[in-house]
Amino acid sequence: MVSSSKLVFDRVAAGRTCRDLWHPQFASCRRYNVHFWRTIMPGSFKLYVPLLVLPPLVKLNDVTARYLLEHTLQYVYISLCTYVQAALSLSAQCALHNLLGRLNYWCVMFWPCLLGVAIGPPLPKPLLRLQAITFFNMSLEAAVRKSTAPAIQYSRRSKPLATLTFMAFSALILACLRSGRVKQFWLVNPNPEAPPNSTQAGSAGCSHAGRCSQHLIDGVLKYGMVGLILEAGRAVLRKWSLLATRPVALFGVEFRAACNLKLGLFLACYVGIFRSVCCLCARRYGRERVAHAAVAGFLAGIPYWLYPTYQIYTLGLTKAIEMGWEYCGTKAADGDDDDDDGCITARLLRRAHRLPMLRLVQMFSFGYLGHVYAFYPRVSPVFHQKAMDVCSTDLTLNMKRRIAAWFAEVL
Ligand SMILES: [Zn+2]
Ligand SMILES: [Zn+2]
Repeated sequence: MVSSSKLVFDRVAAGRTCRDLWHPQFASCRRYNVHFWRTIMPGSFKLYVPLLVLPPLVKLNDVTARYLLEHTLQYVYISLCTYVQAALSLSAQCALHNLLGRLNYWCVMFWPCLLGVAIGPPLPKPLLRLQAITFFNMSLEAAVRKSTAPAIQYSRRSKPLATLTFMAFSALILACLRSGRVKQFWLVNPNPEAPPNSTQAGSAGCSHAGRCSQHLIDGVLKYGMVGLILEAGRAVLRKWSLLATRPVALFGVEFRAACNLKLGLFLACYVGIFRSVCCLCARRYGRERVAHAAVAGFLAGIPYWLYPTYQIYTLGLTKAIEMGWEYCGTKAADGDDDDDDGCITARLLRRAHRLPMLRLVQMFSFGYLGHVYAFYPRVSPVFHQKAMDVCSTDLTLNMKRRIAAWFAEVL
């Protein structure tokens, strides 16, 4: 599939230039570049308007003038960064064409997008993380949808396999969290492993305070409630027009049908299974261990069967990768002081952790997404397509249409 689209592109692009693909209305690359560097900036500011408006609305009560100023400056900075990245990527399209003297399959979108992000100004760490993870998730989605391999096609549809792998992610995540080496957000946060000789606050062997049954019921109620509130909020948003005209409809059948109770059920079961298995193991073996958290996390993944959604699955997958990576990083860093001639894997791991991983993930994911955008628009994530079109004021959209038209000529 990949090679066939490359072969077709090589055929239709023969004799065509970056002017044919990108700027038929501008005879010279220089004038076209001047044009878009001047005109596309508002697109990036438009893209991030939700980022400007939503956080102050959520914080409503404790919004100060200082917060508003800092928040607005951050919005301006990220919009400017995105503008420079987009413009650099567009310039790279022409530059690479002129360098090679022809249109090259990988030098349309893939390398230019990657270079635009690589050369562009760096984002502050939290935003870089957000962007890298969003891009990575979208690339993964596109890669899975694009793949024609029977194994991947099968695993996309197989609920048992999805549940089993989700259980494995859950086990890895909770073992990392329990070890105390990794501190990140996850559905449940176990207490880090207690030192062997510490006096326990709770029931025999458990690290939580109070009785085990109380601990269990607290968790189930709290998480079930959070799930219900999230779902109710979503249903209100979805049925907004109905409720605005007829508020009584809140108690009607139509609104109830829009409410999905499964998220609350999933969260309640997840925390319920996790806590009960942890308590059982702690009581049986006298204290809580990392291995217990892994077993409990694995079993807690079973309720995924009730609520198999793409968002929860990718959250589990990316968190498992991130936390596993962080765990190895802190572990390798610990070995640093002990001995210089440690085993080869530890040294390789230490070296790998010195690489700017988030930045690399962000660059390659963005390049890949650009590639999919141009050559496989049917599997390209909708959010990414919109972002590209907005930030380039439809320059990329027109290019994509031209490629589709060229392909249609020969197929
Ligand atoms: Zn050009
Ligand atoms: Zn307990």
